Amino acid sequence: MRYETRFCPHCATDLAPIVLLEDSGEKERLRCPACGWTHWNNPTPVLAAIVEVNGRVLLARNALWPSKMYALITGFMEAGESPEEGIAREVKEETNLDTHAVRLVGAYEFLRMNQVIIAYHVQAEGDVKLSPELVDYRFYELDQLKCWPAGTGYALADWLRSRGHEPVFFTAEENAERRRGLDDAPKD
Ligand SMILES: [Zn+2]
Repeated sequence: MRYETRFCPHCATDLAPIVLLEDSGEKERLRCPACGWTHWNNPTPVLAAIVEVNGRVLLARNALWPSKMYALITGFMEAGESPEEGIAREVKEETNLDTHAVRLVGAYEFLRMNQVIIAYHVQAEGDVKLSPELVDYRFYELDQLKCWPAGTGYALADWLRSRGHEPVFFTAEENAERRRGLDDAPKD
C-alpha cells in the first residue's frame, strides 16, 4: 500500500501547496500553514544485493510478482545501521544466508517509487530458507543471467561487466512477458 502525506506530522493541520523561496528559487511544496513544516518528499534509500553463492547468483521471486519475475534481494534500511549492515541483515532475513564479503556496486534511481537503490555484491553461504515475502529462488551461472531495464537490473549489468561478462538484457518482448500481470498486482 502507498500512503499519501496529507497532514502535518507535528500539528495534524491539513498540508497545502505553498510557495516559498528556497536555495534553488521559489518552490511549491506541501507545507503546513500552521507551523511551517515542509513535506520534502526525499527519495527513500533501498538496499539491493547481488547474492553470490559458490560462483552462482541467487535471484528470488516476491510473492506478489508474476511467475517469471526473479530479481535481487532488496529491503529498506533500519534506523541505526550502516548500509553494509543493512544488506547483510536483509540477506539473512530473506534467504537465511550468511554474508562474508559485501562490496558496493553503485547507486541507481528508481523514480517511479521515489527511491534510490544502493546495490551491493555479497558473497554468501549457508542453506537457503526463504522468508514468507519470497516464494521461490533460482541460482544462475553468470552467463545465464539476463538483466532488466530498471535500477536493480542496471546494477546487475554493471557487476557482470566488472566480472568480465558483457551483460545481456531481456528484449522488450521478453521483459513484457516477465512483467505480465505485475502492473495489476498490489503494490507495497
Ligand atoms: Zn504543522
